[in-house]
Amino acid sequence: MSAELVDATATVRSAFAERFGGQPEGLWAAPARVNLIGEHTDYNDGWVLPLAIDRRVTVAAARRSGGLLRLLSLQRGEQVLRLAAVRPGAMNGWAAYVAGAVWSLAQEGTQLDGLDLVLTSDVPVGSGLSSSAAVECATLLAARDLHGGPEDRARLALVAQRAENEVVGVPCGIMDQMAAMACTANHALLLDCRSLAAEHVPLALDAADLVLLVIDTRVAHALADSAYADRRRTCQEAARILGVPSLRDATDADVETARDRLGGVRYRRARHVARENARVLDVVELLRRGQPERIGPSLTASHASLRDDYQVSAPELDTAVEAALAAGALGARMTGAGFGGCALALLPAGAAEQVAEAVTATFAAREFGPPEIFPAHPMDGARRLA
Ligand code: ADP
Ligand code: MG
Repeated sequence: MSAELVDATATVRSAFAERFGGQPEGLWAAPARVNLIGEHTDYNDGWVLPLAIDRRVTVAAARRSGGLLRLLSLQRGEQVLRLAAVRPGAMNGWAAYVAGAVWSLAQEGTQLDGLDLVLTSDVPVGSGLSSSAAVECATLLAARDLHGGPEDRARLALVAQRAENEVVGVPCGIMDQMAAMACTANHALLLDCRSLAAEHVPLALDAADLVLLVIDTRVAHALADSAYADRRRTCQEAARILGVPSLRDATDADVETARDRLGGVRYRRARHVARENARVLDVVELLRRGQPERIGPSLTASHASLRDDYQVSAPELDTAVEAALAAGALGARMTGAGFGGCALALLPAGAAEQVAEAVTATFAAREFGPPEIFPAHPMDGARRLA
């Protein structure tokens, strides 16, 4: 266990004893994730390639009787809820993510009479590293181990996604929950968002003397929600014009042929999706061959496409990418839905310090707030710790 994880387990254990009395029945953790490549492809039935990272939500939990959920987030405070009152449309705030996971497990047929739960997290919130799925998946695994339920990781990811879709009310895809549930150390997870088929693809960064830096810009531009809905709609229209079920089924050549029929904006959006899907598969091929040092150009091409064709970047993300590349990164791109959040950069391990310093200095020169920069190591998905 890493030092951070040892600290987090001691923290939730003692907070549990202090607040609820006695020892928890177990401890669980679920990781945050970054998407290596495959952006805005998920809702087009395409491919994504996330990896779990060493930031996580850690949970201590025990069963209780009497129909209550007593929930304590060390970041957000305490909520006590009646289990019977948890349902779609009835909740808001952070407790919806936790109670939603419990509700969703109950929909699978699991009988629950109550739960005491303490959680702590070192995942930045709202940066696109998916703190929400980490909360859901850590909670769900705890509730499943204590009360019974599905074994299959893909099934568990769907149960967690249902919590977010129905109880929280966010129409997210399946990538975040699948990454949190199914990733393995030293691998990225190739996920086919149509079939949900998942494949572990080797990503042995340490062995290749590479570092993957996460650059959290710590900005979230207001445009994000409306632009996301707009992009989804435009993609559906483009698919209809192309005569395919979804843009996953269109190649770059198909999009080119239909350029006039699609019109300028739909053409550019569809071109991004078709090319991005192809880039994911190119990267996977290189990783399968054990050549992670060669994926850089695909990462950088993904960024250019998200900036110019899909138009979801932001000045801070462009700056992070440009500065990282200028300082020696092999490739860099925004990751996540865009308009803020994180960028990532792949670099030779020896260049980590110089790249981080260059990005920080460029942010300061452009009068952006300081970014948070840290290395991401591909980690295991959600698991029981004790
Ligand atoms: P992200 O990109 O981090 O997933 P979301 O908006 O999807 O951003 O989810 C963030 C929400 O998840 C928070 O507003 C909060 O409701 C919940 N959450 C995340 N971390 C915690 C935490 N430590 N304690 C309680 N709730 C949390
Ligand atoms: Mg989220």
